[in-house]
Amino acid sequence: MSKIIVLIGAPGAGKGTQARLLEERKNIPQISTGDMFREMKNSDTPLAREVQEIMASGKYVSDELTYQMVKDRTSREDCAGTFVLDGYPRTDVQAAQLEDLATEQEKEIQAIEVDVPRDELMRRLTGRRSCPVCGEIYNVYSKPPKTDNVCDFHPDAQLTHRADDNEESVSTRLETYDEKTKPLLDYYERSGRLKKINGEGSLEEIYSELEKLI
Ligand code: AMP
Repeated sequence: MSKIIVLIGAPGAGKGTQARLLEERKNIPQISTGDMFREMKNSDTPLAREVQEIMASGKYVSDELTYQMVKDRTSREDCAGTFVLDGYPRTDVQAAQLEDLATEQEKEIQAIEVDVPRDELMRRLTGRRSCPVCGEIYNVYSKPPKTDNVCDFHPDAQLTHRADDNEESVSTRLETYDEKTKPLLDYYERSGRLKKINGEGSLEEIYSELEKLI
């Protein structure tokens, strides 16, 4: 049976980086709700503006809008088999909606917690940079680009810092995670669908742990 792999972890735990590696190396599509919301900034509609404001504050976008987006995206042909969700579900309502979607798509849900201590998260988030062209993720402390502030694959692209990676938004994002998303770990644990990996260590170490669970 195909799976919906759900990566759960605080902001900065490295879900996005690992999901992208799975896509590159195993051809498993990665669906990131955060990336999809960020793409909306290119359209100048009232909804897009509202989403940008919510994101910048570090709060969550509404469950209904998020679900519609996930449902539309995962109904495309590339998601006919197993796919990875990065950053979804994040609330109990979203978790319930995902159960319906999994039933509809005849897939089983496998949740994987990416665990990283709190002090490390702050460092990672404030040091995070990404390429505006290919989305490659760097970190000024732990994974710097070869040339300062320039993508290794796109020499013309200056790396960007996410608007919500400043200290204030980061604190709100961590609080929101604790309050709304962390309880989902119990939810998946109780139904025997939770596995856990240690999100500290090198990219390759984390990836190899993840790969074993998939
Ligand atoms: P991320 O890139 O996953 O850290 O997401 C960035 C921001 O997008 C979050 O802080 C939220 O504002 C919004 N977002 C992403 N995924 C969700 C979700 N599943 N539910 C609600 N808001 C989300």
